[in-house]
Amino acid sequence: MDINKRMQDAFNKQISFELQSSNLYLEMAFWFRKEGWKGFAAWMFKQSDEEKQHALAMAEFVLDRGGEAHVGELKPVASDFADPRSVFEIVMEHERYVTEGIYRLADIAAEERDYASGNFVAKFVDEQVEEEKSVRDILNLFKHRDGNTVATIDDIVGAR
Ligand code: MG
Repeated sequence: MDINKRMQDAFNKQISFELQSSNLYLEMAFWFRKEGWKGFAAWMFKQSDEEKQHALAMAEFVLDRGGEAHVGELKPVASDFADPRSVFEIVMEHERYVTEGIYRLADIAAEERDYASGNFVAKFVDEQVEEEKSVRDILNLFKHRDGNTVATIDDIVGAR
């Protein structure tokens, strides 16, 4: 069964949003590189690629079901950041917003009785649990270690 217009439009909105997420993380990667944080920059470059892959997977799904896929109008992303910890706080907030978008897709799939879309979106529901967890883990590292030289010394001493 071909995808209907309402479901297609909802996917296209999410495709734009995933691409915008990809751009946001790319901007963060550039900022980390400029500030000399190579590890954080590498994480962000990977994250940016992943978001683009999400958009492409959604576009492919819509196209496979006889629909149209569009990049849409991408809004500018934040480009000025204060410090590493606050960047990851922005990522956490952003990923929660992404999750809302995925849930909205799941709602529409259920309302339209579009089981194929429902199954497809379910993978992204799971993905968001992982995304939020990985960012939460990083924020916990900041919480435990930010400005805490004891934790760092503990690591060094413990590695003996
Ligand atoms: Mg994503």
